[in-house]
Amino acid sequence: MVTTSKHPQTQALHSGFRADPATGAVAVPIYQTTSFDLESTQNAVELFGLQKLGNIYTRVMNPTTDVLEQRLAAIEGGVAALAVASGQAAITTSITTIAQSGDNIVSGTDLYGGTWNLFAHTLKAMGIDVRFVDPSDPEAFRRAADSRTRAFFGETLPNPKLIPFPIQEVALIGEELGIPLIVDNTAAPLICRPFDHGAHVVVYSATKYIGGHGNSIGGVIVDSGQFDWEKHAERFPALNQPDPSYHGAVWTEVVKTLGPIAYILRARCCVVRDTGACMSPFNAFLFLQGLETLPLRMREHCLNADAVARFLADHPSVTRVIHPSQFSGDARQRATKYLPGGNGGLVGFELAGGIDAGMAFIDRLKLLHHVANIGDARSLAIHPASTTHQQLSAENRQAAGATPGYVRLSVGIEHFDDIKADLAQALDGLDQVAEAA
Ligand code: PLP
Repeated sequence: MVTTSKHPQTQALHSGFRADPATGAVAVPIYQTTSFDLESTQNAVELFGLQKLGNIYTRVMNPTTDVLEQRLAAIEGGVAALAVASGQAAITTSITTIAQSGDNIVSGTDLYGGTWNLFAHTLKAMGIDVRFVDPSDPEAFRRAADSRTRAFFGETLPNPKLIPFPIQEVALIGEELGIPLIVDNTAAPLICRPFDHGAHVVVYSATKYIGGHGNSIGGVIVDSGQFDWEKHAERFPALNQPDPSYHGAVWTEVVKTLGPIAYILRARCCVVRDTGACMSPFNAFLFLQGLETLPLRMREHCLNADAVARFLADHPSVTRVIHPSQFSGDARQRATKYLPGGNGGLVGFELAGGIDAGMAFIDRLKLLHHVANIGDARSLAIHPASTTHQQLSAENRQAAGATPGYVRLSVGIEHFDDIKADLAQALDGLDQVAEAA
């Protein structure tokens, strides 16, 4: 029997799978197959008609991926999950499952750049309007919403600001208006549990901490099962009216015997079926490996990042450290409320010497990798003004927080003394650059 434990350390190892029924294998096998034997025609009719759920074709469902989905749903406290090709695919799918041309969503402005592009350009071109609001003012979500608003969206721990999103405040407004809150929890798995604060859907780039080893791109959507889609039938025709893309199925009716999974079932059986952004079974296997040690790694990421923030705060070349452990006032209160499991592994800091100091710092690093990623077991660094934010105007760079001397670290799980030594040698003498700048 699989575990009923509520502890993520146990769920990450045992939820959803005990042993392979065919061979007894204890490690989850990689079912590297496109298709599954449908057996009798009667069986096929029942599977395609959703009278029972089962494997048909890996674009829609696969046993290896299914274990990953079950484990992530258990850890997050949701009812079901859907693994997809990337974090971007997860975000796109989470919205297009309930929104179509003419609809809108309201999103906080503090977003990963790729998500910003998706919202400002690609969804817009598809006719889905994204209204951006300042997440420090939760009431702005209410003001921006109307009868065509299909979701609120925010990132738990957005960089560079690293000020947690007001999940509970926005979720409560959503409850009043009948609008679900989708939260991107990529930077804060386990340390924040968005469903505990009323979020309705959680998305991840599994590429980051869940995978943890920098080897696979993937994404996940987790459904809390807590949003009442039927109660707000007018707002959500995609789930409450006959769906022409699935021979007239009404998703809230289809799931009457399956549990509150209308949203995630439509995401799987229509959106990912049609757009094709599925996860490969091999990547699902790698994410399962990563997930097994996620609780241990998150603990170490958080401990090391707290220590790095303290070290940087005392360094003469550093004018500002951006990390929840260093916050005061409202930002500190938000961090205490939303990050009970630790402050996360991302640390930003500002070098007095501006762009020259930022680039010199990166070029001097010997242990930390210079990459545009986060959440790897290894420590990573990037200087946004010369890389990810290079194409933006100086004004937009400033607004995004990518100031000339700003450096972002994704603190890994190496021994802290080695991380500190590398940072110290790279920072050595950069206060001179400050004088020259
Ligand atoms: N969400 C956040 C917060 C991210 O940081 C990223 C990638 O950096 C993504 C989504 C996109 O994920 P992926 O690269 O897996 O598509």
